[in-house]
Amino acid sequence: MQQVMLRTEHLKTWFPVRRGLFQRVVAQVRAVDDVNLTVYRGETLGVVGESGCGKTTLGRTIVRLLEPTAGRVLFRTGERLQDLAECSAQELRQVRRSLQMVFQDPYSSLNPRMTVKQVVGEPLRVQGLASRDSLDHRVSRMLRLVGLSSEHLERFPHAFSGGQRQRIAIARAMVLEPQFLVADEPVSALDVSVQAQILNLLLDLQTRFHITLLFIAHDIDLIRHLSDRIAVMYLGQVVEVGAAEEVCSRPAHPYTETLLASVPLPLPGRQQQRPSSAEELPDPADPPAGCYFHQRCGHAQELCRHESPALGAAGAGSSQVARCHFSDDLHLDGLSAEAEVARAVERSRRDLETRLAGTVREPP
Ligand code: SF4
Repeated sequence: MQQVMLRTEHLKTWFPVRRGLFQRVVAQVRAVDDVNLTVYRGETLGVVGESGCGKTTLGRTIVRLLEPTAGRVLFRTGERLQDLAECSAQELRQVRRSLQMVFQDPYSSLNPRMTVKQVVGEPLRVQGLASRDSLDHRVSRMLRLVGLSSEHLERFPHAFSGGQRQRIAIARAMVLEPQFLVADEPVSALDVSVQAQILNLLLDLQTRFHITLLFIAHDIDLIRHLSDRIAVMYLGQVVEVGAAEEVCSRPAHPYTETLLASVPLPLPGRQQQRPSSAEELPDPADPPAGCYFHQRCGHAQELCRHESPALGAAGAGSSQVARCHFSDDLHLDGLSAEAEVARAVERSRRDLETRLAGTVREPP
């Protein structure tokens, strides 16, 4: 039986919209809106959705960089799941050792006035976990594990390329040897040529340290290849959860089908398809009544316009759950066979490039 590492229960993170002379609250942006998710020990759960769907806010709320408006985040400490809102300052400090985050932008996430040694060693100092000698030793070891060397210890972040900065950010997140890592679009700000190297590094570290990984990205094809399970988010809500291969070959929610249809085919002369439901994301401060997706959904019926669906099993015998009134009856398209073959060829090409590039270090 799989052990639960983290669970969110009816989690909400809303941001007030203020207007006028007295800055009165006129609306709430529902960035995370009633999210129930379970993450099991050792797995990679991919969280995917368009920009603005709330996935980054979800990650930040989980690691307590943002205070939830309502709901709970439960995290395993020893034998029990602990509600992070009820932790004392001392307990929260303990939790932070086990729960770390890698951010999207390695240019803004590193303090430009700190050396690499200070950046990577700071979590150890804050936690009071290392004397000067052992701090140097632990920082050097972690730098080696992320593909850098002790020669880089006294340099400042501006001296490094984007890929190297993300390695430094990963070293900082990993130096406490956490059990759970939230990776928020860790390669989307990087050059395509180094993306695969950083992804491989994260997977290597996951295996070495037995980490549970919550991987956030907007690219469902990337998420599919990294994840054991996928959670699809739309307008602050989780609309589908299931095993990665099942979600991508037999989606149970029309929004997942839309995301899959937008996966580009790496074939000469083929353009990326726009989602069939090409309208813009509705305003999260004023979501539609009923199913949040009904204005973009080609399967919407009258019921969808006024009744919000719950997240429920998508058909008998299916491990997938979907937030759709009709997920039992819909026959939705997954990735096509043509797309599968084309992506497999593309992956082989990239693997080869990565292996060749692995012998050539990025310039310091
Ligand atoms: Fe589409 Fe209705 Fe399902 Fe919403 S509930 S995804 S509108 S079919």
